[in-house]
Amino acid sequence: MGTYPRYITPGLETFDPIQLARETEEIVCKGDARKYTDFYATGVYGGIATGYTCGCCLRCVFCWVDWSRDFPERYGQFYSPEEVFGNLGDAARQYRVRKLRISGAEPTLGKEHLLKVLELVEASEFDQFILETNGMLFGVDRGYVREISRFEKPHIRVSLKAGTAEAFAEKTGAKPETFELPFSAIRNLLDYDVSFNVAAMSADPRIMDQKERESLILKLAEIEPRLALKLEEEVVDPYKTTLARLEYGGLRLKWPLRQIYPPVKLPGEGEFLRRRLGRYAYVH
Ligand code: SF4
Repeated sequence: MGTYPRYITPGLETFDPIQLARETEEIVCKGDARKYTDFYATGVYGGIATGYTCGCCLRCVFCWVDWSRDFPERYGQFYSPEEVFGNLGDAARQYRVRKLRISGAEPTLGKEHLLKVLELVEASEFDQFILETNGMLFGVDRGYVREISRFEKPHIRVSLKAGTAEAFAEKTGAKPETFELPFSAIRNLLDYDVSFNVAAMSADPRIMDQKERESLILKLAEIEPRLALKLEEEVVDPYKTTLARLEYGGLRLKWPLRQIYPPVKLPGEGEFLRRRLGRYAYVH
């Protein structure tokens, strides 16, 4: 574990995120079981049962996930796909919600585990399974996306971290040449007609300058203009772990955030951003 990257520090050597995915799987996967720290329901997505899992293949400096991301060997217990589905179902019934998800880290680690969970969800009474991913493994493994496309219930939310290769390396710790992988994931999802949307940490001028944001939006628009127009843009929130990671990374953000970029969306179509970020002024 001596060279296993934990969080970004100034001068940290960039890592291969696919190799890190495999190393992390060694820690958080055992057969078809995967480590989780909790199961609960929450109000996001209009109410959703959530399994909080451990381990990721990126080290985003603005990540809100708890320390199980950085030290997955110290946290969580192994659960089989059947146990995960049972716990998600219990949480969903207790809180009367009909959607399920795996959150807390990168849910695409442990392919065998995820595909078995999705099989159980597909045959269940639940309506939808939200899969929030950084897109690295769906970008490198087209066959993985093809397997996901067998199911009707998953909706994938691909979360982009940066708009240029250099910024991607700085913000995630991953080698700059792997910046393209989430965009490959988007192409794969389009090709296999999987339900998905794209989010990005791009509304916050403290973490993304205008030029980088334009580059990100243009890259998306080149793949499919509607993806750029419907981009779900986010800002950095001051969770305890986020603040600690920013400090370790040597980044000083001003709080509270007062200004954000105007939505990419056409007038009248910016409802999501207005609801989420209505309290901020726009940067001009
Ligand atoms: S923000 Fe997401 S992709 Fe980035 S380190 Fe955290 S869990 Fe991983």
